[in-house]
Amino acid sequence: DRLIEMRDVTKTYGNGITAVNNINVFIDKGEFVYVVGPSGAGKSTFIKMTYLEERPTAGKIYMNGTDLDELKRKHIPLLRRNIGVVFQDFKLLPKLSVFENIAFALEVLEEPRHVIKKRVFEVLDLVRLKNKARFYPQELSGGEQQRVSIARAMINHPPILIADEPTGNLDPQTSWGIMDVLQEINARGTTVVMATHNKEIVNVSPKRVIAFEGGRVTRDEQRGRYAYEK
Ligand code: ADP
Ligand code: ADP
Repeated sequence: DRLIEMRDVTKTYGNGITAVNNINVFIDKGEFVYVVGPSGAGKSTFIKMTYLEERPTAGKIYMNGTDLDELKRKHIPLLRRNIGVVFQDFKLLPKLSVFENIAFALEVLEEPRHVIKKRVFEVLDLVRLKNKARFYPQELSGGEQQRVSIARAMINHPPILIADEPTGNLDPQTSWGIMDVLQEINARGTTVVMATHNKEIVNVSPKRVIAFEGGRVTRDEQRGRYAYEK
């Protein structure tokens, strides 16, 4: 089953910069993919197109079989609910507790309280943070905040989890804890796509590597290496 399909995709921004230049990328259900490359290579633009933050200027994108060109604007939120996203800077709401940060996505859907509670504790269990439900983000370490953001991304059990530099703000030991969580999520069947500059993680835990340079895919290897200096 193909979850992400990009055919001859190009993204040129309003300033004339072509960030992604005629790429073909196919990602199947259950894969774990690292996206690597130097700064400015187009990784973020690629990642943003997978979660519908940016649209291509040419080419075709299918998400889980849906042609994004044919997706009506009103159906975008529904598709987004099937894509979990995690960022380098966590993006937690500081005035909400861990529980509330995660429950937020369900409250908009007007789920009953007992359902919300059950599901929030399920994802907190997944990231091993059940005991911190009442804490506020600033009371947590960076690694714990990232685990909360992963729990929030998984609340609707999306088939795809997109992570843009999830360990970018974390020390090496904490980063491995985040990798354990992402690998567990992948082992349970969720496709994980992770942009990273973390050479050690890519080389110690080899998986499919898609490398970008100058907006083009220059490598796509099943058990690839990082192969850049930083
Ligand atoms: P990476 O994530 O690999 O660093 P990006 O996708 O962020 O690469 O950037 C690729 C190129 O597109 C860079 O030249 C960058 O300056 C440019 N770019 C990125 N985002 C925008 C934007 N919103 N508007 C204009 N240019 C952008
Ligand atoms: P990690 O290995 O995840 O980076 P730390 O060593 O930073 O964890 O933190 C260890 C413990 O201290 C964590 O359980 C965290 O909840 C707690 N802690 C860290 N920073 C703070 C803080 N600013 N306020 C309260 N508790 C904190």
